[in-house]
Amino acid sequence: MFIDEAVITIKAGDGGKGCVSFRREKYIPKGGPDGGNGGDGGSVVFVADENVNTLLDFRGTHHWRAQPGEAGRGKQQSGLAGQDLVIKVPPGTMIFDAFTDEMLADLGHGAQAVIAKGGKGGWGNEHFKSSINQAPKTADPGEPGEQKKVRLELKLIADVGLIGMPNAGKSTLLSTLTAARPKIADYPFTTLVPQLGIAEIDSERRLVIADIPGLIEGASQGAGLGHEFLRHVERTRVLVHLLDAAPADGSSPADNYRTIRAELAGHSPMLAEKDELIVLNKIDLLPEGEVKSAVAKLRADLKLGRDEEVLAISGATHAGTRELLEALWSILRPKVENWKG
Ligand code: GDP
Ligand code: MG
Repeated sequence: MFIDEAVITIKAGDGGKGCVSFRREKYIPKGGPDGGNGGDGGSVVFVADENVNTLLDFRGTHHWRAQPGEAGRGKQQSGLAGQDLVIKVPPGTMIFDAFTDEMLADLGHGAQAVIAKGGKGGWGNEHFKSSINQAPKTADPGEPGEQKKVRLELKLIADVGLIGMPNAGKSTLLSTLTAARPKIADYPFTTLVPQLGIAEIDSERRLVIADIPGLIEGASQGAGLGHEFLRHVERTRVLVHLLDAAPADGSSPADNYRTIRAELAGHSPMLAEKDELIVLNKIDLLPEGEVKSAVAKLRADLKLGRDEEVLAISGATHAGTRELLEALWSILRPKVENWKG
């Protein structure tokens, strides 16, 4: 299982302190107590938001605090309540107390939970007035807001799967496209460990990409595509079929394409049905000016229709990789206009 993880400290706002004050008006020498109550501190609230898909935002910011309540004032004025801090997390995020490991919330789509409660504001001295004590000089300080260290945990689902022959450049491309590497929990296969990374197009658009090395490599080692393995990629929404533009063994990109498609059809109908983007890789190996003709030849060999896109890239030199990410994004999020995090 791929797990994205972050540990952060959250602090709810302290309650504002109550006020000690006495009425002071002309001709009223001994006014009664009129100190207002402190405002309540803001709470720290987690909300599962569709537009967030990783925990990357938490890597840089370890402390998150909500606003404190204002102190009370004279003339019976209460302090303003502090604002809640609303933290957006991806749906599926689980929140644990970092010390006790107790699960505090498991946030499904649209769910929210108060994880650190704001402190209550303190009473002002007016509250303590009684028949026995007409002029109380005490007020409450306001409760402290809760502070917690929490661990956020998210089981990552790959948006994009990389497939292709051994040496097509899958591993290289994954490391080119992605910066963050979520940790991989114990995995039953020894040789076929899928790799996963998070690609950041910009701060609001991220894709989770998995290298799916299992096809040919696995078959030749007798490992094949295990059930566990497939579970990781069954929710992958699009495949990038990576083709070496100049295979060292003299085979053609079109032959290699067919080999992998046959493997897919034979071993994983589930994967075979996914949307696929064909990508000609290692174009840095082609002579100057021959990229276009290589793409045209591939299109002709595979008898691709007009609307079937072929991208040309180099995982090594990064040529075309930005366009690849943009193309993947528009396949995955076609309907989201005015995208905002
Ligand atoms: P994988 O088996 O599909 O994971 O392929 P790798 O990423 O391990 O790459 C196989 C070989 O191709 C390695 O020697 C890489 O250095 C090389 N390679 C990968 N991408 C490129 C590329 O864009 N251009 C060139 N010239 N070589 C590449
Ligand atoms: Mg590899």
